[in-house]
Amino acid sequence: MKPETLLYEGKAKQLFLTEDPAIVRVRYKDAATAFNGEKKATLAGKGVLNNRISAFFFQLLREQGIANHFIKEISPIEQWVKKVAIIPLEVVVRNVAAGSLSKRLGLTEGSPLRHPVIELYLKDDALGDPLINEDHISVLEIATVAQLTEMKGTALKVNEVLRNFLAQKNILLVDFKLEFGVDDSGDVMLADEISPDTCRFWDMATGNRMDKDRFRRDLGNVIEAYEEIWNRLGGREDV
Ligand code: UDP
Repeated sequence: MKPETLLYEGKAKQLFLTEDPAIVRVRYKDAATAFNGEKKATLAGKGVLNNRISAFFFQLLREQGIANHFIKEISPIEQWVKKVAIIPLEVVVRNVAAGSLSKRLGLTEGSPLRHPVIELYLKDDALGDPLINEDHISVLEIATVAQLTEMKGTALKVNEVLRNFLAQKNILLVDFKLEFGVDDSGDVMLADEISPDTCRFWDMATGNRMDKDRFRRDLGNVIEAYEEIWNRLGGREDV
């Protein structure tokens, strides 16, 4: 067997080359980090759950006409995705005030927002992923105006699909983060992951948090909450 070639290792995932140069294998790790890597832990079972949940959401989005990098799950902790060059932006969509928005604008956590709010953050650990605007993105030549328009439009569509789907499962989609990449044809495509690590999910009846805030804020029962999300989605374990 040929040795595995690690293409990239992030905080929660590893990316490996495959025999097909257009395909990358993503392995979801059990590692959990928060506050720009200052807080770290290993949460047994997180990799499996995030692989499954992310695959589920990408398939749901594809069925709803939103193209993305997902190809297929190949093991409980791994999936094949299309190789793209990640645009170094975090595109955050919010429906309800929480986290950094509550702090920045002085809004009580849980206050509904009159309409979805999109925020753009620069993916740069050394700078602490600062909030940036479209002029900053232009001078840094991170994305073109057309690419940004497309990313924001897709982010709002993702919000509509996920929010409506999750509401049927009694889950409030408070906010989430997306990343996009550019494929070999130069097209912008939704990429990365969509999981309880990258979204805020609250139980609609109780307000109970079922996401990474349980880890960030030491609320306990982190894996149990991720399992609850997976159970409510009612997804199949294909591999
Ligand atoms: N988020 C993420 N990665 C980041 C920062 C934020 O996935 O590096 C997600 C986070 O889980 C939440 C949303 O983006 O669903 C908004 O996060 P926020 O800006 O409130 O930051 P936080 O309070 O989590 O630091």
